[in-house]
Amino acid sequence: MKPGPAGLLLAAALLASVGQLTVLASPLSAHVKVKVGWRPAQVRVGDVAWMEIQGVPDNAALEGSLGGRPLAFFPYAGGRAALVGIDVETKAGTQPWRLAVMTAGDPPQTIEGRLKVHRRDFPVQRLTLPTKMVDLNPETERRAVSEADQLRTLYRTVTPERFWRGRFTRPVGGTEPGTGFGSRRVINGQPKAPHTGIDFGAAPGTPVVAVNDGRVALVANFFFPGRLVVIDHGLGLYTLYFHLQEATVTDGDRVHRGQPIGAVGATGRATGPHLHFGAHVGAARIDPATLFELTVTD
Ligand SMILES: [Zn+2]
Repeated sequence: MKPGPAGLLLAAALLASVGQLTVLASPLSAHVKVKVGWRPAQVRVGDVAWMEIQGVPDNAALEGSLGGRPLAFFPYAGGRAALVGIDVETKAGTQPWRLAVMTAGDPPQTIEGRLKVHRRDFPVQRLTLPTKMVDLNPETERRAVSEADQLRTLYRTVTPERFWRGRFTRPVGGTEPGTGFGSRRVINGQPKAPHTGIDFGAAPGTPVVAVNDGRVALVANFFFPGRLVVIDHGLGLYTLYFHLQEATVTDGDRVHRGQPIGAVGATGRATGPHLHFGAHVGAARIDPATLFELTVTD
């Protein structure tokens, strides 16, 4: 059946909805039934979630977004999937998502929906640091701003290849959960940006490993993060390892899950030896601990 002229932007007809698993079909191409599933069933602020899509023809191109941020799809379980990052400063509530299925010779088919993002309460953390690390002189301030810009630009760069597979491992040994994600920091009485990673206390020299396969995107020594490694896992997923005593990889190296990349230190702005571990998905700052619970199984 040929779609009519109004078929360029199709309202999705809701056929069934079970939790956040939704079966949708375009009213004008009833033969294409697109199934959209969300994991986990309940998505919170700061989570990495994923969207699984079934029923899109193999030869169709797929584009999508959540809350206006583009999604990067990969083939998965006979369909497609995409990681979705809910930035730490996202307001709880519903986020609109949108998919566009493009098949040669047919008008694009648009499917839209809403994802409920549940709230998560973050603690307020008060820290006292040496004044020289907080009140920066103009030169240091410029350096810190330019380094932050460099990192932001990197996190927005989407490598079109997926390097990671299967589960994510911890970046350091032991069983202690990383702490401090999302805490609002008040440093010497001044409110600062939220803490967007998790901290693992560990002795200096403790090996730090890549949490999954990827490519080393940056090794540097920056003012706040100290000696750092950023790993690009592809399709907009990056993991960050800060305050290292040393890095044992260089830019462009391919790394595998569990491979040592450096050692715990206290470089940069650190109150003592620890690993600051962070993760970004499509430039959203997510709780990296939620990567360890990701249920993508290939
Ligand atoms: Zn930290």
